[in-house]
Amino acid sequence: MSDWQKSLHASVDTLDKLEARYGEEVIDVEGLKPAFDNFQMRITPNVLATIKEVGDAMWQQYVPTVAELDVVDGVIDSLDEDGDSPVPNITHRYPDRVLFLVSPICATYCRFCTRRRKVGDPEKIPLNQYDSAFDYIRNHTEIRDVILSGGDPMMLSDRRLEYIFQKLREIPHVEIIRLGSRITSHLPSRITPEFCEMVQKYHPIYMNTHFNHPAELTEETVAALGRLASAGIPLGCQTVLLRGVNDDPLIMKELMQKLLKARVRPYYLYMADQVAGGEHFRTTVEKGLEIIKALRGWTSGLAVPHFVIDAPGGGGKVPLLPEYVEEINEDEVIFRNYEGQRFVYKQPRQVAVPQRGDAVAAESDVVPIQTGKKAAPRKKAVARKRKTGT
Ligand code: SF4
Repeated sequence: MSDWQKSLHASVDTLDKLEARYGEEVIDVEGLKPAFDNFQMRITPNVLATIKEVGDAMWQQYVPTVAELDVVDGVIDSLDEDGDSPVPNITHRYPDRVLFLVSPICATYCRFCTRRRKVGDPEKIPLNQYDSAFDYIRNHTEIRDVILSGGDPMMLSDRRLEYIFQKLREIPHVEIIRLGSRITSHLPSRITPEFCEMVQKYHPIYMNTHFNHPAELTEETVAALGRLASAGIPLGCQTVLLRGVNDDPLIMKELMQKLLKARVRPYYLYMADQVAGGEHFRTTVEKGLEIIKALRGWTSGLAVPHFVIDAPGGGGKVPLLPEYVEEINEDEVIFRNYEGQRFVYKQPRQVAVPQRGDAVAAESDVVPIQTGKKAAPRKKAVARKRKTGT
């Protein structure tokens, strides 16, 4: 048995083990039993080590509570992924890419999981129905990007992963393969030298990691990320905005900066989906906008993810931005910078572009661009500042 499999076997994966670890006064075994009918539980030793006290950010992400049974207005398949599923295991929503569910299981199960209706259940994400998925991808030449997900694709053996990579690389129009995986924080030992060597034969392969809190970036995790990056895998990160976990600008800034240091580019910050059983994790949209405003300009642009809502019912990701623009008219754009100062950007003048064959454009055809002219003062004095960076 490999190191990562031994680690997986040492996980807490039953209510009894959870009670034995944290005590009956903390774990309501009877109360939690119905939650287990709906969703799996497993917490690896790596994740357990990041839980410092009952109720902290790491605890909330992984330890089940009776709040999961409190279904307010969430829906089972909140993104209607099944509605866009032409064959088993495939969701085809966007024009040039598909989601390919290849693994039913995860090393650790997150209590807010959008796909909790399926994850943990091999009957709902079957391992023996890949063929129709490959056929679908092969027959749809517009698909240039395949996102392997689940569950966690990194829970498959190297052999099975290599089989999937090989089959996809036989399809000429598949340009890139992405792995959506939380394994680097749940089970960093899964990133073995053997996997890193094998994967390099099938590039370009990207990995979208998933981190929600700076405490997840342990020494082992950072080392695993380093191994992936050194194997030539560009690393991005998806983060979910979660009440009581990371709904704080300072926590989010620390997370984004730590990710960059670990060679991971923050990619998306998601509003938590309206999934049944996840209501207690949801924040307001204003909280997300406040966080983005606290990042943009105050730290490197590389550390600022796209803030999105995955539209309920299957509308896809919609970006959200704090308000910076105050006015746009045909002469100018008036906006505020990250410090709240107002600036004016002049719109371009219409210029007649000389056509090939015109000997010399008549002087009267060209309206000169006036440079260095001061904008007419607005109601308030407009602060001017030299642009100093990107
Ligand atoms: S790792 Fe991803 S798929 Fe698995 S439980 Fe967590 S959020 Fe869901």
